[in-house]
Amino acid sequence: MTTDLKIAEKPLIDPYDRQVSYLRVSVTDRCDFRCIYCMAENMTFLPKADVLSLEELDRLCSAFVTRGVRKLRISGGEPLVRRDIMWLFERLGRHLDTGSLEELTLTTNASQLERHAQGLFNAGVRRINVSIDTLDPVKFEKITRWGKLDKVLGGVDAAADAGHRIKINAVVLKDVNDDEIHDMVAWCGDRGFDLTFIEVMPMGEIGGDMRLDQYWPLSMVRAELKKRWTLTDIDDTTGGPARYVRVDETGGRIGFITPMTHNFCEDCNRVRLTCTGTLFMCLGQEDAADLRAPLRNGDDKLMMQAIDDAIARKPKGHDFIIDRRRAAPAVSRHMSVTGG
Ligand code: SAM
Ligand code: SF4
Repeated sequence: MTTDLKIAEKPLIDPYDRQVSYLRVSVTDRCDFRCIYCMAENMTFLPKADVLSLEELDRLCSAFVTRGVRKLRISGGEPLVRRDIMWLFERLGRHLDTGSLEELTLTTNASQLERHAQGLFNAGVRRINVSIDTLDPVKFEKITRWGKLDKVLGGVDAAADAGHRIKINAVVLKDVNDDEIHDMVAWCGDRGFDLTFIEVMPMGEIGGDMRLDQYWPLSMVRAELKKRWTLTDIDDTTGGPARYVRVDETGGRIGFITPMTHNFCEDCNRVRLTCTGTLFMCLGQEDAADLRAPLRNGDDKLMMQAIDDAIARKPKGHDFIIDRRRAAPAVSRHMSVTGG
């Protein structure tokens, strides 16, 4: 690297004195599912020339690691549908070996996890988030449009067998899977998986008025769960939007991600990078910085300067609203662009 060591060692501190130590990277906007809350069925994807190569993604992620990012989460779209993606995991694994990186993780729909579970473990991944919104195969096809539950569950089993810790992410949708929350808690409890319930967020056009119909506040979920389970608050804070409880009966942990009903921004430690090299400093705001141009320019100093300039613009917080009077989503890009 031609980078000035002093810059390279400087941690990324935003204007509100929060240190950026967590980078989420969406390595592709493509996906083999079309979840009803995430994508329209006929999505238009980015032209390949706009998408960073795996080598470029490695360079950019590594720049963040030298600036104090300790956790990297690879997401998408569906990260495991990107060709040769295991190369990136193996490359990034070197930062775990040196101790610069604490954790390399992945969020996936698990459709391709069966064949990659062991390779991911070998690369140093130890925790995987798998998105499963229902345990009913028919409903699963309805929600994901193109997914098969048995393939996904095969992937989850393979990951557990390989030694990964698993967390299930479930978006709770009114009149779709809100009747399954107890089953999800029991299923995860039996298997030793953590579980996170997520409120649907107003991101990207998905067609019609669907989002208003889908929204189901997690306060309702929590109230319903309390009828059957003993929930004890625990204050695990990851700098993220989830708040956690322990289920006394199973010993399992449940997280609630409530961007709509709660403000979780005050201790935000994360930024998000898209597969085109655009850095979003906040999931809920449109402001972004282009890192692809300085990256492709080949001057690491310029790239570091661009990262510094971006972090200096990290906003204090976001302002999601599902507004009945507005037809448009609060944030125009889809979650698959920034990887959730
Ligand atoms: N394809 C992978 C998956 O589904 O796990 C990774 C990308 S996906 C965009 C990451 C997470 O975002 C998933 O857990 C998904 O359920 C969630 N998600 C997508 N669109 C969302 C929305 N509009 N509101 C809330 N969560 C959403
Ligand atoms: Fe694909 Fe994940 Fe979006 Fe579903 S939530 S369409 S699996 S990116």
